[in-house]
Amino acid sequence: MAGDKCLALIAHDQKKDEMAEFARRNRDLLAKWKIVATGTTGGRVLDAVPDLHVTRLKSGPLGGDQQIGALISTGEVSALIFFVDPLTPMPHDVDVKALMRLAIVYDIPMALNESTAEKLLPTLNA
Ligand code: PGA
Repeated sequence: MAGDKCLALIAHDQKKDEMAEFARRNRDLLAKWKIVATGTTGGRVLDAVPDLHVTRLKSGPLGGDQQIGALISTGEVSALIFFVDPLTPMPHDVDVKALMRLAIVYDIPMALNESTAEKLLPTLNA
């Protein structure tokens, strides 16, 4: 059953295959959550595991990261899994930084790569 708090999922383009695999591997744990995701990431996660409860926001470069930041500030997002591509320059780099900053300000659990996400997800309470 999906709980009240949301888990946010984001993956940069070069990390979307990784995110789809992560979702498949962790479908049972993810099924306990209401998930919010940036637009394209949410689509890929739903393609991988269609029965997950995923709300797709705007695409990252069009404001999706900022939407997730806002949901962190209001307490609606309680954890963030963000597969960051550190090798590609991005037009919305400032939004990515702002999102990470809010995750730190509000002290929510945040995984920025796959190995951390694998360790973090089982420890979270949906
Ligand atoms: P996307 O956004 O899931 O819509 O691609 C992610 C991002 O690039 O921040």
